[in-house]
Amino acid sequence: MFMDNTCPLCGSNEETVETPPDGKDTYIVCCKSCGNYEISRRTYNADLANYAPLWKISAAIRNKYENGEEIILHTGNVKSLVDSTNFPDDPFDLIDKLLEYVYRKTGKVGDNVKLNLYDFPIICVESKNQFKYIIDKALDLELIEKSQEFSNILRLSLKGWKRISEIKKTKIDSKKAFVAMWFNSELDEIWEKGIKPALKETKFQPVRIDLEEHNEKICDKIIAEIKTSGLLVADFTGQRGGVYFEAGFAFGLGIPVIWTCRKNDIENLHFDTRQYNHIAWETAEDLKEKLKNRILATIL
Ligand SMILES: [Zn+2]
Repeated sequence: MFMDNTCPLCGSNEETVETPPDGKDTYIVCCKSCGNYEISRRTYNADLANYAPLWKISAAIRNKYENGEEIILHTGNVKSLVDSTNFPDDPFDLIDKLLEYVYRKTGKVGDNVKLNLYDFPIICVESKNQFKYIIDKALDLELIEKSQEFSNILRLSLKGWKRISEIKKTKIDSKKAFVAMWFNSELDEIWEKGIKPALKETKFQPVRIDLEEHNEKICDKIIAEIKTSGLLVADFTGQRGGVYFEAGFAFGLGIPVIWTCRKNDIENLHFDTRQYNHIAWETAEDLKEKLKNRILATIL
């Protein structure tokens, strides 16, 4: 046991902090809010707020933990962990996140899950109050229901199950991923060593259509491919009009879109897409890692 029982992410001082048996230079923190994670000793003592807002790190870690991913947090990966986490600001998206959690935890009709307010990082909000608001609204909308005796034991209602099936339809109907990007030899490596392997490793089949290679009615083909895709990855490097069109088209259809752009081109992004949390990448390997994480965080 380590003397200080403070979780450096949420500040709770009643958690367990232990040193791993293999004598590694880390601590293992088991926090009821942030989940279980390993953290380098140096990072434990660093001011993590310099890297990202602490509640965002906490949410990122808790979500990785829920996905069964083992994380060793260090100052070098804090930012990319946060970047690969989706922080919805729309209450309906937050309600969906809550439903997805309840669904994943229970999985069977009628099963219950116990939710405490300290579990708020699950839906990537900043506070217990926001979590309570989302739970209350999901109850108001009759998407979840309380089990009779205990107020914090919840389950999906029939309406909630219906919503889950809608979410699944838009998210995993197809394992085809349409890739919208600039066809330029400069970006070949990004495709070969970044986007393509990230999609394959997450079981997606990457599809890319080169406008210049075809003379036929290419637009029809693109539209048909996007319509039947379960995911669209749009890389805005080079600021091509086609990429904006394809991303906007998929977005309008409710297909999940992952927005990426080379770091030194981010400032050239058109104003109206800047609101989406773009993955800013520097190398193909960097993009591969971040894209994989984002896919895991975005897709049910
Ligand atoms: Zn914590």
